[in-house]
Amino acid sequence: MSVLEADDNDSPAQTFTSEDGVPNARGRVLGGSSMIYIGIYSRADEDFYMNSGINWDMNVVNKSYEWVEETIVFQPNLTAWQSAMKEALLESGIGPDNGFSFDHINGAKIVGSTFDSMGTRHAAVELLNKAESKNLRVAIYATVERVIFSTNSSGLSAVGVVYRDSNGKSHHVQVRAKGEVILSAGAIGSTQLLLLSGVGPRQYLSSLNITVVDDQPFVGQFMYDNPRNGINFVPPFPLREWGSQVAGITKDFYIESLFGIIPFFSPLSPLLFPDPSPPVNFSVLSILEKISRTFSTGSLQLASPTDVKVSPIVRFNYFANPVDLANCVNAIRNIGVMLRTSAMDQYKFQDQLGKKYFKFVGRSLPDDLSDNESMETFCRKTLTTMWHFCGGSVVGKVVDENFKVVRINALRVVDGSTLTTSPGTNPQATLLMLGRYVGLKIQEERMS
Ligand SMILES: Cc1cc2nc3c(=O)[nH]c(=O)nc-3n(C[C@H](O)[C@H](O)[C@H](O)COP(=O)(O)OP(=O)(O)OC[C@H]3O[C@@H](n4cnc5c(N)ncnc54)[C@H](O)[C@@H]3O)c2cc1C
Repeated sequence: MSVLEADDNDSPAQTFTSEDGVPNARGRVLGGSSMIYIGIYSRADEDFYMNSGINWDMNVVNKSYEWVEETIVFQPNLTAWQSAMKEALLESGIGPDNGFSFDHINGAKIVGSTFDSMGTRHAAVELLNKAESKNLRVAIYATVERVIFSTNSSGLSAVGVVYRDSNGKSHHVQVRAKGEVILSAGAIGSTQLLLLSGVGPRQYLSSLNITVVDDQPFVGQFMYDNPRNGINFVPPFPLREWGSQVAGITKDFYIESLFGIIPFFSPLSPLLFPDPSPPVNFSVLSILEKISRTFSTGSLQLASPTDVKVSPIVRFNYFANPVDLANCVNAIRNIGVMLRTSAMDQYKFQDQLGKKYFKFVGRSLPDDLSDNESMETFCRKTLTTMWHFCGGSVVGKVVDENFKVVRINALRVVDGSTLTTSPGTNPQATLLMLGRYVGLKIQEERMS
């Protein structure tokens, strides 16, 4: 099973490198990144509901999660490696053992997965089957180029979109009476579409000769991505499985593992092993950490003022805020403690003198885990991404708490671009919930 295929125009993944120099990727297929992702499903933590700028209706939040979970989420059968991971987490002090749970709570737990017991991927696209099909028309190979606006007595309104099909033919889609345009093109895609449509900072848009429809200074601001760091090692025996099933959660960071066979020539290898990869296909175990939420933020700018297919320029400013670096150091220190637990013993090689050791791929941990300077260097040198970037069109700045673009009628943004803060965990569960949540709220609005 491979996560990403080659990055050409037919690939389900569109790769990009942020200005921070970190290779990254996003889904370019119906179902978005859920079609290429690793499948970890975990609901947002408490902090998210408190600090996301939205007065959440928790009853609808829970109903929305359940709506997703009954269709595409499964309890994984723990592999031997993942059981050992959980033991190592507990031995290293990350407890209690919370068993299998969708909730992001402190301790060690088995996560939900969007892969079933046969290893088949389930994803956002399947949720379309739950729709009233007579009310739905789905266009695939359709690239939206911009939103169309009109001004009348009720002010500025979105009235449709222009999209181009795979033959290069342009199509105009008008919204119906009382309808609206909802952008769900992801943190990068929706923010890019707003800018290309003339919704953004006046001076910036004018400098690109884009007609300004509405001066919105915060479009493209507050982008963030949680840095990922960790270690990779080859086990002394071959592995057949692939995936990630266990998480160790603290307030500031969480730890999980990726395991399986990584084809060296897959575009996934530089994403996972920027520092440096061995030139063969290999089984590898990775113990990774991600800080729960980042205090460093960056921005997005257009690389082309006319062509939506050109990936924008994104900078996340990883570790610009010292708190992020300190959280990384603490998390890596915890991984160091995990490596010394008895649960990890069986994953070591043994030399002729009986000395046990890990066969690391790439950088190994500093010997002295208490030396802050070398731990910080480790964080900087092994920096990569978990692909959890969000922001760019955030609540309270670009959209209101009903996800409506401020000052513009009939235009919403509903995806990761709107999140003011990370869900504290892997974002997919929260974003799937968000789609359903806003859908139910729109229904409520229309009924009343
Ligand atoms: C390799 C990888 C592994 C990941 N693993 C996990 C994981 O295990 N667990 C987890 O919780 N999260 C994971 N994530 C993150 C998660 O998948 C994303 O956070 C989430 O999918 C973002 O959802 P979204 O709706 O904001 O955007 P996306 O999922 O990016 O969806 C945006 C959609 O809009 C489309 N689009 C963009 N621009 C246009 C346009 N101009 N016209 C038409 N369509 C357009 C795209 O093709 C895509 O279908 C992973 C991501 C990646 C890339």
